[in-house]
Amino acid sequence: MNKTAACIYCKKLGKAQRDGINILGNFICSTCEEKMINTKCCSTNYIYYINGLKKIWRCLGD
Ligand SMILES: [Zn+2]
Repeated sequence: MNKTAACIYCKKLGKAQRDGINILGNFICSTCEEKMINTKCCSTNYIYYINGLKKIWRCLGD
């Protein structure tokens, strides 16, 4: 389970579970993961990332 995947945000290619995180098949590179963690609430970036995650959260049912 170490195939190359494209980040759902920046489309950068990376190895899932090595260069980032993989949530239900959606790869997020370490750069975008770090941005999400450091992004403050209510900023434009926050909205951008949350919108991208909505489809994932919908699958999680929470
Ligand atoms: Zn990325």
